[in-house]
Amino acid sequence: MSRLFPHSSSSHVPGVPASHPFLHPCCSCILAVPAPLLFSCLPGPTFCLFPCPGCSHFPAIPVSRLPTRPSARPDPCAGSADPNHIYPWPHEPLPTDPLDFRHHNYDEMRKLMRRVNAECPNITRIYSIGRSYLGLKLYVMEISDNPGRHEVGEPEFRYVAGMHGNEVLGRELLLNLMEYLCRQHRRGDPRVRRLVARTRIHLLPAMNPDGYEAAGSELAGWASGRWTYEGIDLNHNFADLNTPGGTPCALAQVAPETRAVIDWMQRYPFVLSANLHGGELVVTYPFDMTRTYWKAQELTPTADDGVFRWLATVYATSNLAMAREERRPCHYDDFARAGNIINGANWHTVPGSMNDFSYLHTNCFEITVELSCDKFPHASELPAEWENNREALLLYMEQVHRGIKGVVRDAETGRGIADAIISVDGINHDVRTGRARDWGAYGVAGYEVTAAAAGYEAARRPAASAWLEPG
Ligand SMILES: [Zn+2]
Repeated sequence: MSRLFPHSSSSHVPGVPASHPFLHPCCSCILAVPAPLLFSCLPGPTFCLFPCPGCSHFPAIPVSRLPTRPSARPDPCAGSADPNHIYPWPHEPLPTDPLDFRHHNYDEMRKLMRRVNAECPNITRIYSIGRSYLGLKLYVMEISDNPGRHEVGEPEFRYVAGMHGNEVLGRELLLNLMEYLCRQHRRGDPRVRRLVARTRIHLLPAMNPDGYEAAGSELAGWASGRWTYEGIDLNHNFADLNTPGGTPCALAQVAPETRAVIDWMQRYPFVLSANLHGGELVVTYPFDMTRTYWKAQELTPTADDGVFRWLATVYATSNLAMAREERRPCHYDDFARAGNIINGANWHTVPGSMNDFSYLHTNCFEITVELSCDKFPHASELPAEWENNREALLLYMEQVHRGIKGVVRDAETGRGIADAIISVDGINHDVRTGRARDWGAYGVAGYEVTAAAAGYEAARRPAASAWLEPG
């Protein structure tokens, strides 16, 4: 073993405590692990506790893409002809990517996905995780250098959109994203190539396709299409904080869409996700449900609160619409005052949310992004919305390479151990190794981790090296 985690104080991120070890930007992990090699970190920069400078991405917006200050642009509303800024600014970001900017119904969505798959067969795969109540397939686009395979040590990431069928921007952004990743990969864009080579990405653009078809167009009412055909709000349909064992109550009505997603979460070892909604401009992080059951609002942090606030901040500061200084609140809440992020339960309690389920019952950290004030923007706004979100979507995916990861093996045979429990000092939230015997964790409050498995002595080691002795 060699030295770990030399600290640098030069890149403190404003608004986040400098003492939080998650934020140390640099590490130097040297792979001289003694045999027998067990429960060890994997080769490559990402097994370091913190990414090396060459691979770290902080939520900084390139200066050239920062919105100009209001005083620097002509004001079309001079004379208060448009006091509410209803009409678009003349300097909305122009679309630089030639993508298919329009609303896609179910058939059009399928066609687009097939086209992307045909253009990039080596890095894409389309699969379905189940069917909606009306029988529409829940399609996922996988993007990875080896589609269809989990590679040991390569983290799995997912974006989910369209849980509420009438909040349609996320669906279009994910379709844009798959087109963009395919195109840029073919062009040799180093950033995209690196991301695709090191990450297994899954994009589910329509979790509630029945609701989308019901919403129809931007002329639909505020809530029409939110629910499934059966009238279920999918974001209240997961097992919640108070449901033991991770299975929804036997008496509860669980939508086929929810069952499909739970099954998906349990089949793939996801470690990071975002759930794309609309109707506000803010990023929320778990818990979504208040611990005091009768309270409508209550700060309810997880054991990984610092990490979640970081993740939410990454999206909120790189999304051009949220970061725009002159932006006005969508409705009543001025989220900009708190950096456009909020603990979900501290906004309004959501029992049975997908984020809470993901955190409590799987190894995956998930946040919610409310993408725009308007749930169903007009098609002409889609290019600008892509510009607003492109950097945020990429930067957030790159966060999957933060944290620590490794493999748990038997000290004598070298065989990988599935279902071993990984605990990080000071964080009351464990993760488990998956079927591939590898694991990834964000909960990093100390540098010591413990691996435990049935039939073995627990091993306690610094993050980069530990092994298990048969007990
Ligand atoms: Zn929603």
